[in-house]
Amino acid sequence: MSATWDLPDFDDHEDIHMFRDPGSGLSAIIAIHSTHLGPAAGGARFWHYADSTRAITDALRLSRGMSFKNAMAGLPMGGGKAVILADETNIKTPKMLRAFGRAIESLGGRYVTAEDVGMSDEDMVVIGTETRHVAGLPVASGEAGGDPGPYTALGVFLGVKAAVKRGLGQDSVNGVHVAIQGVGSVGGGLARLLAAEGARLTLADVETARAAALAEELGGETVAPAAILEVEADVVSPCALGAILDEASIAALRCKVVAGGANNQLARQSDGRRIYDRGILFAPDYVINAGGIINVGLEYLGQGNREDVEARISHIPARLEQVWDESEASGDPAADVADRIAQRLIGRG
Ligand code: NAD
Repeated sequence: MSATWDLPDFDDHEDIHMFRDPGSGLSAIIAIHSTHLGPAAGGARFWHYADSTRAITDALRLSRGMSFKNAMAGLPMGGGKAVILADETNIKTPKMLRAFGRAIESLGGRYVTAEDVGMSDEDMVVIGTETRHVAGLPVASGEAGGDPGPYTALGVFLGVKAAVKRGLGQDSVNGVHVAIQGVGSVGGGLARLLAAEGARLTLADVETARAAALAEELGGETVAPAAILEVEADVVSPCALGAILDEASIAALRCKVVAGGANNQLARQSDGRRIYDRGILFAPDYVINAGGIINVGLEYLGQGNREDVEARISHIPARLEQVWDESEASGDPAADVADRIAQRLIGRG
């Protein structure tokens, strides 16, 4: 019989906890990948999995990702992730959330939760009745915390500017052509920041009216969602889905830089090499999109207000530069280099 540590996504996780509360119907897994830098922080996902191995695999993979993301964000936090296993009815009750809160509390602060897919800030409030190890709660204006989207957009904007400087040799995005895939919370915020500095925008969204309205407001163009990655532009900025960069889409890119906010943009780790070999500068997603976690992290740590969050976000370009420098020196793709730096930061060099 195989055990969890035989699963391909097991990466010397420190501990993996499985909780069941028959009274509320809660079944949850909390995976703690690393607490080297601080409490293991990462959201809780409410999801219906075909079987429990898939749920464990998701928790293993996502918690490792959070270790890397938090380390690269310069946060004094490790990486963890929780999954709550929904049944076919997909019903989430306050009783279940409170049981989940008690499960978190039983770990004594080793794991800190926040929103992820299927969870809301109202759910965090319910969880917070049982544990103080929760972030992503509604906050007063001016405090750290609240909607992470605008902070993520700010970090991506600063990262795009850094990539433009390095890839195009330009200090400003004025006149630089950026094609944005997905103009929701992150992509829409990014578009506004870019437009304010004179960038030329091409936008696409499956909600075509949303892209059209923003293009009208900001003076850009739109293309069909299927065409956005192939637009001839200086920068392509994926801000919608993950796994959009694969063999075919990378071969079709007609840009000098790929820098956007979407999580897990590479379909496979080896696709980082394909981008590198095409001479396209790539901003690893968990480095450039860390603005939201910085916001939530400082909220939990009680370390400051919005200005402090923005000050930390302003370090994202320097972290990207470090990745690109090491990539240039070693000949390794930026995505591999980012993982390597993150591993060093969590004491696993
Ligand atoms: P969102 O739901 O607000 O926006 C996503 C937009 O993409 C929507 O307008 C949607 O219609 C559009 N879209 C979906 N599929 C598309 C496709 N195939 N082509 C074009 N457009 C498409 O989500 P968001 O919060 O802006 O997040 C966007 C991405 O950034 C996600 O990958 C998310 O995981 C990642 N991210 C978000 C944050 C955050 O703070 N919100 C933080 C880190 C990473």
